[in-house]
Formats: sequence, structure tokens, C-alpha cells
Amino acid sequence: MDTPNGKRQLTRRRVLKTGATALGGGALALGSGAAGGAAQAPAITTGTQTGRTFRGLVRHDATLDVQEMRLLPIDPRQVVIRSLAVAPCYTIVRGALATNPIRRAEVPNHCGFGVVEAIGPMVKRVQVGDRVVVAGTSQCGQCYQCLHGRPDYCQFTFFSNPPGVEPFAPFAQLRDGTPVYAQAGIGGMSEVMTAFEEYCVPVFTDLPAAQLTLLGDQLASGFAAGHADMVFQPGSDVVIFGAGPVGLGAV
Ligand SMILES: [Zn+2]
Ligand SMILES: [Zn+2]
Repeated sequence: MDTPNGKRQLTRRRVLKTGATALGGGALALGSGAAGGAAQAPAITTGTQTGRTFRGLVRHDATLDVQEMRLLPIDPRQVVIRSLAVAPCYTIVRGALATNPIRRAEVPNHCGFGVVEAIGPMVKRVQVGDRVVVAGTSQCGQCYQCLHGRPDYCQFTFFSNPPGVEPFAPFAQLRDGTPVYAQAGIGGMSEVMTAFEEYCVPVFTDLPAAQLTLLGDQLASGFAAGHADMVFQPGSDVVIFGAGPVGLGAV
């Protein structure tokens, strides 16, 4: 977006896009042959999103089934995303596969990756057509923690997810009208997901969706464990138990 005096406005999205393009140019200069730059999926014009039907994995009562849902209206700061890939977080497996009855219908998980297909009128950080990582935690860039270099403690997430309180409205409903919630306000294991823009990071690369979706949770968790939770000295011997996405993130 340009400012009234004609100067280009510096936005987080523009920094992400320009940085990726610059890196792509470097790779080409080195003769890697990889296509650099800002390839992204085209914008999808779907018209009105409310009422749109899609399928997803729904945990309800004692069951876990693929069900058809209908999208409810989004919040002015929410984004509608068509899922391209999702990696289930290890933390959800026990709950999702359990058979104990739960009173509300819920789409499991708390991260994903996809194409933005609609944005609420107050959304500024992403545009329709952007490919976005939907992260398990927010980075609002405005709270005390974000402004002090600790977006991992972003207060948008932690004020939104107090234990035992449901801060997010249902995002869809089943055919019989049963409201469907997205776990942690994000979900992810459905053809369409919604998220507040604070959780969405646009990426400008042609890396495949199945790899990029790992940045939203598992790979980032392993990376963070090796940078924040554990304090390693250079030259230390370190054992990592398990080399899945979390362990490889630590490596
Ligand atoms: Zn997780
Ligand atoms: Zn924040």
C-alpha cells in the first residue's frame, strides 16, 4: 500500500516478500539453478465465504470422523485459508484418537499451511492469494512481549487461550447445525481453516506446502528448544532422542 505522499509504506508483509526475493536472487547468482523469487498460488475468487461447505476431521461425542461443514461468518480480523498441507502436532494425538465423549464438536490441531482466500475488513498483514504458515502461537508485534523480543510469549496468544476458557467462537457448523470449534482457535485438519491475522505469516517461496507447514509448529518447537529452553555452549556434546520434525528442528 502506498502512503498519500507517494512513498511506499514499510510493512511486515513487504519485508518478508522483499527479503525472500533478495535471497532468491543470491541463489541464482551462485548458480544453484533453483527458481528464486516470489512464486505463489494465484488468488482465488470465491465470492461469499459464509456458508461455504467443506470437509474436515471432527472430534465430537465419542467419535472422530470426516464431516461436511458450513463456514460461519469470520471476525473482521480473521482470515479464511484453503488448506494445502497440515502436520498434526504430537500433543493432539492422544485427545484426537481418544474415545471419551466430549461435549463440543472440534477440528483438532493448532497449525497449518494454505492459501488465503478471504480476509476480514480490518486485516492488514496478509492478502488474498498469499500462501501463509498458520503458526501455533501469534506474533502480534504490538504487545509488551513482542516489543521486548519475546514473541514466543505474545500476549495475544496467552490472553486468547486462558486455561479452561473458550475464547474463540465456533467457525463452522455441521449439517444438523451443531457448532464446530477449531482447537486453540486454529484447528487445521480441514479443507478450510480460519485464523486471526496475528497467527498468519505469508511466505514467498516455491518450497512445497508439506515442508512449509512444519514451520508452524513442530520444526519451530525443536528449533526453539535448542535456542531458548536448553542452554548449550559451543563445543558441547548433545544427544537428541528422536529425529522426527521436532528433533530435526533442534539439529
Ligand atoms: Zn503443537
Ligand atoms: Zn504480541
